[in-house]
Amino acid sequence: MTKKNTATSNQQQLMDKIVSLCKRRGFIFQSSEIYGGINACWDYGPLGVELKNNIKQAWWRAMVYERDDIEGLDAAILMHPKVWEASGHVENFTDPLVDCKSCKLRFRADQIPEENLKLKKCPECGGELTEPRKFNLMFKTFMGPVEDEAHVVYLRPETAQGIYVNFENVYVSMRRKIPFGIAQIGKAFRNEITPGNFIFRTREFEQMEMQYFVRPGTDMEWFEKWREERFKWYLRIGIKPEKLRFHQHGPDELAHYASAAYDIQFEFPFGWQELEGIHNRTDYDLSRHQQYSGKDLSYFDDEIGQKYIPYIIETSAGCDRTLLAVLVNAYDEEDTGKEIRTVLRLHPFLAPIKAAVLPLVNRENMPQIAWEIYKSLKPHFKVFYDDSGSIGRRYRRQDEIGTPFCFTVDSQTLQDGTVTVRDRDTMKQERIHKSEVLDFLKEKITF
Ligand code: ATP
Repeated sequence: MTKKNTATSNQQQLMDKIVSLCKRRGFIFQSSEIYGGINACWDYGPLGVELKNNIKQAWWRAMVYERDDIEGLDAAILMHPKVWEASGHVENFTDPLVDCKSCKLRFRADQIPEENLKLKKCPECGGELTEPRKFNLMFKTFMGPVEDEAHVVYLRPETAQGIYVNFENVYVSMRRKIPFGIAQIGKAFRNEITPGNFIFRTREFEQMEMQYFVRPGTDMEWFEKWREERFKWYLRIGIKPEKLRFHQHGPDELAHYASAAYDIQFEFPFGWQELEGIHNRTDYDLSRHQQYSGKDLSYFDDEIGQKYIPYIIETSAGCDRTLLAVLVNAYDEEDTGKEIRTVLRLHPFLAPIKAAVLPLVNRENMPQIAWEIYKSLKPHFKVFYDDSGSIGRRYRRQDEIGTPFCFTVDSQTLQDGTVTVRDRDTMKQERIHKSEVLDFLKEKITF
């Protein structure tokens, strides 16, 4: 095996280990698994939903609560079909699709090597490829009982449009002045031609989007500010700096609505890939909605005494992709001398379970004391009580799901009321009084 092949197969193994851990420990299951699964759809299990909620919470805090210039929103998934004409999705939200006439595999023409396209030869089997044709990625359905063209509605392919059409509602009701932003987290749907890499590219996914409305002329300044801000957020949730980079869109990559764009990329086991896009969307969106709705969407800026259509800086992140990046970034196998321990080194704020409370043995009042501690923590944090198996095994089970702390009640607790605190990353133990456990966690679990 060449060096490159070995590296690739190590990376493949890493992905396999993460996928298997996710299933075994209740993070992520395949959707409709008992029916053989459905392609590119995944279900978040008990620990996955905690991790995902914590990521969303970390985003919402940074974008809405810690700032004074951003409001939240939760718009409907189904929108007036004209929205998608105005946005350009009906016309432009397409991928070029080619089929192999022999093996029937389907490819995105922009994702296969150029020479295959030129020769019209399938990259998998060498068979003949069809001409590329435009394939619209929006899922269609019907509103009401009549299934005809007049009743077609789309499952939104992005959350952004719900923000644009509510621009006026938000700034009027909240008495906002430009510059300000609107943030939204929600599901989006795309009938992707080539989904894959676990939860990286799926057909149903969640976005965390913020659209920032600015005065024309100040747009590039805000664009630069936002791309720095967003990069910092990934560092703040614990992603290693060497795993992150910007990718600037060249003129041929820019979307029809954008004048400037950067992706924030993460180094996944399958290569550098986009986590988030930051776009200068100019006045494209509001101008188009003004044109298609016939409603005046201009804004009167009393500071300069002028009316204009605001420019929009967009930060559009994928929640599922971020979650996968967080898992890849946290996954570690450590040789302790005795064994290989698997540990998820998650940021404590993101960890699905913040602490486990463990009686060392099931006798001499230890379970009762541990249960009391567990109950005192429960209203504040997601915690776990575990009295089954050897203490070493219980620690390993928590390491594997990223629980930052374990509190153990032992015989010394019976004498002086102290418990051990075991740190997930260092495996070091210290003693604190049982009455200090809650404050200890409050101090450690911050964002
Ligand atoms: P890609 O080039 O990977 O298809 P995109 O450039 O079309 O992505 P955007 O339209 O900018 O993506 O969407 C913003 C974010 O939404 C992406 O950065 C990504 O994190 C997330 N996202 C987009 N499509 C998917 C998908 N099919 N599955 C999971 N997340 C997605």
